[in-house]
Amino acid sequence: MAPETKKRRVPSFRYLKRLGSGLVKGLAVTTVHLGRRPITRVYPEAKAYSPERFRGIHNLVADECIVCQACARICPTQCFTIVGHRGPDRRFILEQFDIDYNRCMFCNLCVEVCPPKCLTMGNEFEVGVNDRVNLVFHVDALKVER
Ligand code: SF4
Ligand code: SF4
Repeated sequence: MAPETKKRRVPSFRYLKRLGSGLVKGLAVTTVHLGRRPITRVYPEAKAYSPERFRGIHNLVADECIVCQACARICPTQCFTIVGHRGPDRRFILEQFDIDYNRCMFCNLCVEVCPPKCLTMGNEFEVGVNDRVNLVFHVDALKVER
């Protein structure tokens, strides 16, 4: 028996018409957007935009901290190590303020309970490290001025 020869299907006119109109539409959209300012940014060359209420690495106005431990008590994952002592005027002086970002889930609870509002969420998020130990941030890394 002679082998069957496969018939090549010729694309229909309707198919070609649809393909052509799709290409024209696509090119039209591209042409319209060519002159516009780009919306996306080339990260990391251009720093990514953080919205106002972004929850990044905390900011602490250390001079205003009253060492009340409210943030440490409310934290669901026990991120904080806060140590202080009373000064000569009976006011607490901050000695150590660490946040362990291995545990932090950026829930904002600690910020909400801070009585003097000296603890806030910042917009820094680039905290890639080679060792987990380096994800424990000390006061110097968190400190900001009011
Ligand atoms: S943001 Fe939440 S998890 Fe992170 S330190 Fe504050 S309370 Fe703890
Ligand atoms: S709640 Fe605010 S004032 Fe109290 S220890 Fe935490 S950062 Fe300091």
